[in-house]
Parts: sequence; C-alpha cells; structure tokens
Amino acid sequence: MVDCQRCGSAEAYIHFGSEMEKEVLCIGCYNAMMSEVLGVKVESYPEGVSIRGGDGMVRHFSIKKRLHSGGISMVAEELKSFGYQFAVHGELECDQGQLFLQLIDKAERAMMETFIQEGKFPNGQHYYSLKKDRLIGIVESNREEDGNPVLVVDGKPYTWEEIGKMLMSYEGFQLKVEAVDISDEIEWIDEE
Ligand SMILES: [Zn+2]
Repeated sequence: MVDCQRCGSAEAYIHFGSEMEKEVLCIGCYNAMMSEVLGVKVESYPEGVSIRGGDGMVRHFSIKKRLHSGGISMVAEELKSFGYQFAVHGELECDQGQLFLQLIDKAERAMMETFIQEGKFPNGQHYYSLKKDRLIGIVESNREEDGNPVLVVDGKPYTWEEIGKMLMSYEGFQLKVEAVDISDEIEWIDEE
C-alpha cells in the first residue's frame, strides 16, 4: 500500500490522472473529488460487515463505495486473501442505502450455495468434487507465488489442476464457460 497523495492515509490504491500526472488516492479523497465533479454526494455506509454463509461460518467483509462517471459501485471483499468478493452497480442518482442492501442481499444469496465438497478415499487421500455439477468462481492470479491462475470458489482458491481433477468425473460431458462481470448476477436455468 502507498500513502494517499492528498490526505496521507496509508490506504491509497486508486491511480488517477493521465500518464504525465498520476496521483494515487485513497477511496475517501477519490470519492470527494468525483463527488465535486459529478455533483453527487457520497452517503456514509458501513465499512465492514459480517455475514454467516451457507456453511455456517461467519465471514468478515470490508465494504467500499466508489463513484464513477457511469454510476456508483459497491464492493464487499472478504478480509482474507482469495476470499469471497461481491459487487453491485447503481446509477449515479440511485438510492445509496438501497444499493448497500442490494450488495448484502447478493452476498447472502450467493453464499447460500457452496459448490465444492471435500471427500476422502479409503486410503486417506483427499479429493474435491462438485456438489451439483456446477460452480461459480472468480478468476484470480496467484500473484505472490508463481503468478499462475486460480479460481476462487466458496471463498477458497483452487488451482486449475484441482478444478481439472474435479471435472474428471464428467469425462465426455460438455462444459459451459462464460465470463460474467462481477457486478452482474449469475442465474441457473433450472432454478424454480
Ligand atoms: Zn486520501
């Protein structure tokens, strides 16, 4: 983390400006600046929430709100590396309190279903399998190690090797892969 060039806060991560004149800002200073430009007030919001997932575990999230020229985005990020991440997007003039509730609702709904279960072979060796022939994950990279891609499912990182092994029980099946923006909803066709 670098220091914000306006207020000195240690949590600056937004790179703003042109190639020539780049400023690194914290979210507070960034929003204050955008707020002036766009004429939209950033209403206060909880910076952290805890949500109990479908597995019964309580997970802690940091919440961030960010103004863009195209609207307002809110992101909930689990406070651990390769954890859950959820995002929603609203119009600039949207009800910001409602947008926050929408984010929490999305996180709660998404964590109701977990996709991967761990099993054990008679020889004691562990394996992973899909509970319901499907999964939703977030593509990330294992930056700190070898930079290889990982898929974060159920708030846990899996290597593509591990995902590949899980899919071996579907040998001969088709696989549907679609990249979906993090602020969009994923719906399953068979849901009633
Ligand atoms: Zn700042």
